[in-house]
Amino acid sequence: MLSQITKSPSKDPSPLVPVRVRPVGGRVLLTNPWGDWIGLSEAELALVMERPSEMPAELEARLRERHFLRASIDVDAVAARVQQKHRYLSWGPKLHIMVVTLRCNETCVYCHASRAEMDRTDTDMSIETGERSVDLALSSTAPGITIEFQGGEPLANFPVVKHIVEYAIARNRAYGKAIDFTLVSNLALMDEEKATFLVENRVQVCTSIDGPAALHDKQRKLISGSAHGEAVKWIKKLNQRYEAMGLDPTLYRVEALLTTTKETLHDPKAIVDSYVDLGCRAMFLRPVDPFGFAAKTGSKIGTAQEAYLDFYREAVDYILKLNQQGVQVLERFASIFLTKILTPDDPDYLDIRSPCGAGIGQIAYNWNGRVYTCDEGRMLAATGDEFFQIGEVGTARYRDLVRHETVRAMTVASNLDAQPDCVTCAYKPYCGVCPVFNYATQGSLHGRMRDSAWCHVHKGLQDYLFGKLLSDDTATIESFHRWVTVRERAHYVHTGTSS
Ligand code: SF4
Ligand code: SF4
Repeated sequence: MLSQITKSPSKDPSPLVPVRVRPVGGRVLLTNPWGDWIGLSEAELALVMERPSEMPAELEARLRERHFLRASIDVDAVAARVQQKHRYLSWGPKLHIMVVTLRCNETCVYCHASRAEMDRTDTDMSIETGERSVDLALSSTAPGITIEFQGGEPLANFPVVKHIVEYAIARNRAYGKAIDFTLVSNLALMDEEKATFLVENRVQVCTSIDGPAALHDKQRKLISGSAHGEAVKWIKKLNQRYEAMGLDPTLYRVEALLTTTKETLHDPKAIVDSYVDLGCRAMFLRPVDPFGFAAKTGSKIGTAQEAYLDFYREAVDYILKLNQQGVQVLERFASIFLTKILTPDDPDYLDIRSPCGAGIGQIAYNWNGRVYTCDEGRMLAATGDEFFQIGEVGTARYRDLVRHETVRAMTVASNLDAQPDCVTCAYKPYCGVCPVFNYATQGSLHGRMRDSAWCHVHKGLQDYLFGKLLSDDTATIESFHRWVTVRERAHYVHTGTSS
């Protein structure tokens, strides 16, 4: 029926701006190129497409209000909105991932980062490589940068983490950028001295929580004890320190990430409860991806997309129910899409934007000085494929990196206007594709979205969210609006003058 409506010749010229359509939850979703959306019944759509002169005033008003009527479009206002949504394009790389070691004290079933044993100090980044990486990061045209410490386990090479923080703050006096630091750690090597340095230097800490203790410890083996116990102990201690400093406890907390595997899917409520019990205000229910070691073990532990989507929907339904009971917690994947759908802004999440952030939004610096388009390109290199290397610290200049031919190719490949399936997809204004994922799973940077697990998951997520938005469930819609409220965490930001 829908294809008949959208293809049938109309007597009158269409009054609509260009639209893409998709049936969602018993209605028809229409989106326009600058991200407005509206839900119509099939009868309403048929009327608009075939007999627009007979449209009732109420329908016409709804379409006008949502900027779907060509005759009432304010071109300057639309241009300003498109510019606002894509303002990340004029910034340059803001995220700089520094892999300070491959050594790790835990063994995870899904390890993406291709860890090394704890005695492999030859995989530690040197002070010199750290400094040259910071020099490149500060050369970015972005007014603000994030330096994110990754591994392996970055606490295993803490002297270099510490040096990079101090060096970056000192060097930034000449640049005056807004800098913040994030450390991604399993927390098992944390001690009071390291914690004090991180808190005093305003380094955000992010860890992994894979659910209740039994599941976490099954997925993440720590020879010296319970990986979950260590993570929880330090989450609590660090949160107490933030509170003691007078920081808003709803804003300043250790962030935790979930890695979804087959084991995770059985009990979505238990996963959500484990986060709520820890006092987390947000969780990120990511699917497992095919990089690093996960590429080799994926068939065993990888999650079928449908099973993942079932898990996701049940978990988010439960989170929404908790919201109604006054428990304030949100899901980040949803909040990224909802920010695009419900607000004039884009969250600039580098994996879901067009074009993606590879080389133009982020750069990854490996322990050995090799530079990659992004952390996922670096992870693929750990399996022996250096396709995404774009230079080496010490010899590469900033402009060599961002103008590298691989970066150019990825910018084109992740531009949704150049993706055959995306150009006609109703979710194009909110979506993004990943050339590293395409390359790893389909053998080309462009990939083929109709056969892509990435596309399948993104489509399923947006179907779920729009299904809720097009319903009359006001409590859910209120929750979604709360999930997109951005509260700046200014405490973490160092400026050239304040540090
Ligand atoms: S290539 Fe993929 S992982 Fe890298 S920035 Fe783009 S979307 Fe993200
Ligand atoms: S990746 Fe899939 S869901 Fe996203 S815009 Fe492209 S076709 Fe649509």
